[in-house]
Amino acid sequence: MGEGIFIQVELSDTAREDAELAKKLEDACPVDIFTAADGRTEIVSENLDECVLCELCLEASPPGAVRVVKLYDGGAALER
Ligand code: SF4
Repeated sequence: MGEGIFIQVELSDTAREDAELAKKLEDACPVDIFTAADGRTEIVSENLDECVLCELCLEASPPGAVRVVKLYDGGAALER
């Protein structure tokens, strides 16, 4: 880990505590970056490097809920 991390995924506070959204994100991400735990959305940090920037998480969530930040690209973010 450490130097291998190029992606950061951020959740809004509301997204974090939305059990329904947690399930959707868990299903949407092809590389399992989200997990639904006790009705909350958790980020699986050991999978962050697998992010393929597919934006499926953004499509599955309301505007502002999820940001995918490209740490190698001046912090450019995918968001909606
Ligand atoms: S952009 Fe795709 S791979 Fe990356 S966290 Fe979202 S759903 Fe997962």
